[in-house]
Amino acid sequence: MSRETGNASKIRVQFASDNYSGICPEAWSMMQEANAGHVLSYGDDEWTERACNLLREIFETDCEVFFALTGTAANALALASLCQSYHSVLCHRAAHVETDECGAPEFFSNGTKILLVPGENGKIDLDAVEKMVKVRTDIHYPKPRVLSLTQATELGTVYSVEELRAAGELAHRLGLRVHMDGARFANALASLKVTPKEISWQAGVDVLCLGGAKNGLPIGEAVLFFNRELAHEFDYRCKQAGQLLSKMRFVSAPWVGLLHDGAWLRNAAHANACAEKLEAELRQIPGVRVMFPRQANSVFLQLPPAAAAALRARGWRFYTFIGEGGARFMCSWATTDADIAALVADMRAVLAEEAVHSG
Ligand SMILES: *Cc1c(COP(=O)(O)O)cnc(C)c1O
Repeated sequence: MSRETGNASKIRVQFASDNYSGICPEAWSMMQEANAGHVLSYGDDEWTERACNLLREIFETDCEVFFALTGTAANALALASLCQSYHSVLCHRAAHVETDECGAPEFFSNGTKILLVPGENGKIDLDAVEKMVKVRTDIHYPKPRVLSLTQATELGTVYSVEELRAAGELAHRLGLRVHMDGARFANALASLKVTPKEISWQAGVDVLCLGGAKNGLPIGEAVLFFNRELAHEFDYRCKQAGQLLSKMRFVSAPWVGLLHDGAWLRNAAHANACAEKLEAELRQIPGVRVMFPRQANSVFLQLPPAAAAALRARGWRFYTFIGEGGARFMCSWATTDADIAALVADMRAVLAEEAVHSG
């Protein structure tokens, strides 16, 4: 653990990731309620049943629901359930399953190969998918089995309903199953203003890993199998991978809090609106270059190295390893106008200094 973060109260509000935020009040209060008394363990409790039923209502289908403790576990176990070890998974070059899961999908599937697909703005190029599947059909090539899509994407863009339908149709025509990494599914939903089913099972998604942590939960991602057959023995996979929490109610009760009166969508809409405001204000600063279309809760900037260093010296944290070297600024359910104003003021200052030095 890093020492510099020793005193949590000293950490300023940051834009490095939406997972820097705390637990939203709706999730927190339900967790407290769940703390009263004793209930059955390992997910055989009423909180877990309620959370699963809420997800079925919200997605308007009788899906199989499981909970995992991290998005990495959810993605890796979901992908493993779709593949044999000799199969391959096609995903975007920038996909979290490729770049940020330390090989967990390959590990849990006993060697399934990840094949990387190019595409603008973090979205998979469907022609490239078709080529990659058809280029080889012989026994020496890892057999393509899954198309994995991230919604919203790692670069803060959002697949439209039409784009997802086209991806789903192509995948199924090519004999691929469709996995969706929905770590920021709620942000995509709030951005598109459509119903959950339209960008999931109706578009051909077989399995959705639905993010909770970045949307206001303490921990816990949901895995929704719209194709119920694919969930066969998934409970054993979860247990074997250490994902079956004995006190499952403390994962599921916050989900109930998040879902039962729409907090998940309010949180996501708030985060998106903050990013929209941040982008609008940053665009007014001379020298600012926004990198990708901002459609969810992140803004990527092409920052001169000196300006990035100066921002860091002023105490700001942000990631530059995700979007082609861009600096990512991410809003959450907890971002405030004052936080945005503080970042914008410092950005203005460091870019003015940069202009003086380079001019
Ligand atoms: C954050 C994130 C995840 C989940 O990451 P964990 O740290 O394993 O919980 C998965 N996919 C994407 C695109 C993410 O941004």
